Amino acid sequence: MEKDIQQVLISEKEIQDRIAQLGEVLSKEYEGKNPLVVGVLKGVVVFYADMIRKLTVPCEMDFMWISSYQGTDSTGSMVIKRDVSSDIKGRHVLILEDIFDTGSSLNFVYHHLLKKEPASIKICTLLDKPSRRKPGITLKADYVGFEIPNAFVVGYGLDYNEYYRNLPYVGVLKPELY
Ligand code: 5GP
Ligand code: MG
Repeated sequence: MEKDIQQVLISEKEIQDRIAQLGEVLSKEYEGKNPLVVGVLKGVVVFYADMIRKLTVPCEMDFMWISSYQGTDSTGSMVIKRDVSSDIKGRHVLILEDIFDTGSSLNFVYHHLLKKEPASIKICTLLDKPSRRKPGITLKADYVGFEIPNAFVVGYGLDYNEYYRNLPYVGVLKPELY
């Protein structure tokens, strides 16, 4: 796997340090709120597992699985493969996502969950590529781990054709590989 990486964009240590910082902020924000932490599968699993272990408040876990994304291009149309199983009405929902790219996925998830009448709903994304946002998407992430330039990244949960998710850092693939 290592040989396929052109550049390590965010090291394992940088990721872990940032998650520890976010953990402090989120633990204060959700004090006494028993948040429902909703992860967007599958890319979020690595970030999710590290992030919730930095929350010092009681929280519950749930997941949504949506699809649309193939290869390096996002079509924008979304299908729910798995919806949340908890009753969201009146709950404080924290959405965790791996990357905020064109915004189609998060926009879809956010509005889908909003219809279920949560008490509050916030977004925390590990990575944000603001330069890629689709026109018309005004949604903002409340918490961002790292802003990154417009490059296709893999690792730390992010895949290319399902591979590289288990790299412990975020890196850029060699261009000849995709
Ligand atoms: P969006 O709907 O914001 O365009 O894209 C969100 C989803 O597309 C992410 O959850 C992720 O699965 C995928 N994606 C977007 N950018 C990248 C990238 O740079 N690398 C990888 N591996 N996946 C990406
Ligand atoms: Mg994702």
